[in-house]
Amino acid sequence: MMKLLVNKLFGKFAIFALIVFTSMSIASAKIKVVSTFSILGDMVQNIGGNNIELTTLVGANGDGHVYEPTPADAKSVAAADVVFVNGLGFEGWIDRLVKASGYKGKIIIATKGIKELKFEGELDPHAWQDLSNGRIYIKNIKNALTDVDPKNSNLYKKNFIAYDKILESMDKSTKDKFADIPKKNRKVITSHDAFLYFGRAYGIDFRSPVGVTTESEPSAGELAELITEMRKDNIKALFAENITDPRLIKQLAKEVNAQIGGTLYSDALSDNSEPANTYINMFKYNVNELANILSK
Ligand SMILES: [Zn+2]
Repeated sequence: MMKLLVNKLFGKFAIFALIVFTSMSIASAKIKVVSTFSILGDMVQNIGGNNIELTTLVGANGDGHVYEPTPADAKSVAAADVVFVNGLGFEGWIDRLVKASGYKGKIIIATKGIKELKFEGELDPHAWQDLSNGRIYIKNIKNALTDVDPKNSNLYKKNFIAYDKILESMDKSTKDKFADIPKKNRKVITSHDAFLYFGRAYGIDFRSPVGVTTESEPSAGELAELITEMRKDNIKALFAENITDPRLIKQLAKEVNAQIGGTLYSDALSDNSEPANTYINMFKYNVNELANILSK
């Protein structure tokens, strides 16, 4: 009789313990998040903190325009609770990847709500190069993570508020910094048109030989036209980019007897051994490089 009672009690306890253990492991499980490229990934990580397990598809110094997804990417997308993309045509490969993966969950477009720029009839995807847009990205990210994981909404809100304050103050200091440089000096050539949002926000005239994607190469005629413009407008500030081959920009510098000002981080962060390993660090680095050259 006694033995039976003990068994009964123990059995109940075992079931109780099992229930507690199971609900605990559900509560502590991280949500699986995919972001398409490193700059967006860093923003997502800042909002999600320790609650998310993040996979970023196009890593440091990678070119998101011409990326070729791998079978491992399809696996990551298939297992995701939510997928973040830039949109505006940046990731031309994303629809095929999502279809191949069988993923049916949410796809969040981080640029939703920004004031879009067009260049020669094409949408310009590089909206992250304006910090006021970065603030819209992180708001969209905060809202999406809150939808997917409402029980951690307070944490996402807290992370968002802290991050947003930094971006807001950087946006203002960046405007002030370039306003101090004479307008006629604020002209820059880069490898592709990744900085038109930057230019609109901070008053710099950016031009490039190829337009808003790295998929095309300039014709001899287009190059000649740009060289003529550079001579006419006395543009001596030329920058290479971390994601593109520097040969073209070197050739242009030679044509106008200029030096390359340095390398800007356009469409991807650097790895941790370089100075642009987060969105904030990337922005600070680009601003300093540009301001140094343009104020000479
Ligand atoms: Zn680009």
